[in-house]
Amino acid sequence: MTPITSFAGKKVAVFGLGGSGLVSCSALLAGGADVIAFDDNAESVAKANAAGIPTADLHGIDWPRLAALVLTPGVPLTHPAPHWTVPLAQAAGVPIIGDIELFCRERAVRAPDSMLIAITGTNGKSTTTALVAHILRAAGHDVQMGGNIGVAILSLEPPKSGRHYVIECSSYQIDLAPSLNPSIGILTNISPDHLDRHGTLEHYAAVKERLVAQSDLALVGVDDPLSAAIEKRLDEAEHNVVPVSAERKLDWGYFVRGTQVVGKGTQETDAQAEVLGELAGISTLRGQHNAQNAAFACAAALHCGLEPKDIAAALKSFPGLPHRLEEVGRKGRVLFVNDSKATNADSTDKALSSFPGDIFWILGGKAKEGGIAALTGFFPKIAKAYLIGEATDEFASVLEGKVPYERCGTLDVATAKAAADAAASTAGEPVVLLSPACASFDQYRNFEIRGDHFRKLVQALLA
Ligand code: ADP
Repeated sequence: MTPITSFAGKKVAVFGLGGSGLVSCSALLAGGADVIAFDDNAESVAKANAAGIPTADLHGIDWPRLAALVLTPGVPLTHPAPHWTVPLAQAAGVPIIGDIELFCRERAVRAPDSMLIAITGTNGKSTTTALVAHILRAAGHDVQMGGNIGVAILSLEPPKSGRHYVIECSSYQIDLAPSLNPSIGILTNISPDHLDRHGTLEHYAAVKERLVAQSDLALVGVDDPLSAAIEKRLDEAEHNVVPVSAERKLDWGYFVRGTQVVGKGTQETDAQAEVLGELAGISTLRGQHNAQNAAFACAAALHCGLEPKDIAAALKSFPGLPHRLEEVGRKGRVLFVNDSKATNADSTDKALSSFPGDIFWILGGKAKEGGIAALTGFFPKIAKAYLIGEATDEFASVLEGKVPYERCGTLDVATAKAAADAAASTAGEPVVLLSPACASFDQYRNFEIRGDHFRKLVQALLA
């Protein structure tokens, strides 16, 4: 844990007592702050109390006496409406911050020279974060990985010289971290998302821009218009920014050439571009989207002082993340892939793009707006579709006459049928792919439980 000493002897309110909120309380207490914690959920308050954290209803406290309100990123700061604690803090002139801000202040005091690599973007944050951490660890660096990836930043070891922090940041977390100043800031891409919490796409993009604008070195994707505009703006302001692309060759920067990640300086010819990684044959980095993630990770590692040959070697041993095109087994020629994280058509688009064909596709659940209409271009790659959950009728009507399909109801029936059909096919490498293009809530508590269930079903088939 990282004790937070910057609020020693001061009164700090913490609102939101989920995993990261509880860690914030402990870190503040360990650093000598006078903490008062609360949550709208009485059970969470009771749990905090049981853990020895002082709690009180923040409606009734003396707000002007607070040095800060530490807000969990899960509650709204601005949209759709500020949480009730926000106007109370604002009226009393109390700064509203999050756990990443607490960390940044501690780093500034303890070890401003420790490397802080912060990653944001609409998609690819977790994969890029995990890959950067993996490459740096493979080179023997002292690496602490956390943030939005599921490990509260304050649960990491305290900042010290030589330590590398690889931190995934959601837009909500950036919004609560005014002094976030990464050594390397990464912005992968921007597409419309979370607009309920940011009001407009412009506000959402502006929040993400702050992470790279305040970094010593910004690595910014140029494959979508909003990110490309940010890269251009930073460049014009003479910020230290390098463009990154998975889609096209750049005059300079980091990009993907065929199956290689390359880095090219402004004065270098194409032939002089440095090869940082070879993606062919790396099953954990399938697809153009992962090529983009890999380009960012290679670039960050190079700027941390790694040799290209060590970066290239580390890419090959990346274990990947669960539920994202995760290979969960192989039986004879048949490959089984768990892509349960694909809860919308956009994500399933990435999965279907990543295989040449012969896909035995398991899909369905709780459909999102638009369903699978956007995926019709991939239908020639689908050998057969296996429908589960609430979306069955809706998806069947889209597949009708275009792709053979079967109504399976549940994942166990779908997996058994898809496995049998794939084994009986004459394809060289048939793929049984769970990429639902749907939320899981009709049948599972979350996508992780759905993906774990699929993995177990496949393991049973292989046993
Ligand atoms: P995030 O943490 O931003 O949600 P992940 O790395 O967890 O991103 O990937 C989640 C899903 O997003 C993947 O399953 C894939 O469908 C898609 N994805 C991953 N990387 C990218 C990318 N660079 N561009 C577009 N989509 C991506």
